[in-house]
Amino acid sequence: MPEKTLFQKIADREIPSDMVYEDDECIAFRDIQPQAPVHILVVPRKPIPSLDDLTKEDTRLVGHLIVCATRIAAQEGLGEGYRTVFNCGRHGQQTVPHLHLHLMGGRQLRWPPG
Ligand code: AMP
Repeated sequence: MPEKTLFQKIADREIPSDMVYEDDECIAFRDIQPQAPVHILVVPRKPIPSLDDLTKEDTRLVGHLIVCATRIAAQEGLGEGYRTVFNCGRHGQQTVPHLHLHLMGGRQLRWPPG
């Protein structure tokens, strides 16, 4: 068995997290280093390393992550708006090699990001 990713360990409750949502396909928990008042990671249970590793069979799963993020945004009271981001690779500054969608909100975000 390959070594579990950090986010698989969170899904399996081997590492504690502030979980806000879960279903058969994904989990969502608060980022340990929040960059906004609300900063949640939506993570598929399937350990896809990054956007670059997606296959056609993942198309529905990625849509599910996005729909879940919008539901969580509503639950978190982000009616004024929010941002969703998949970081990818070195230039995208991805640090955890398990696909995850950042959901950030609760303050005025700026564009472009750094
Ligand atoms: P990225 O840099 O896009 O790969 O995002 C990884 C995110 O995971 C960062 O925002 C980290 O703060 C967050 N993170 C790392 N370890 C944990 C953890 N144990 N619990 C919650 N969030 C974490």
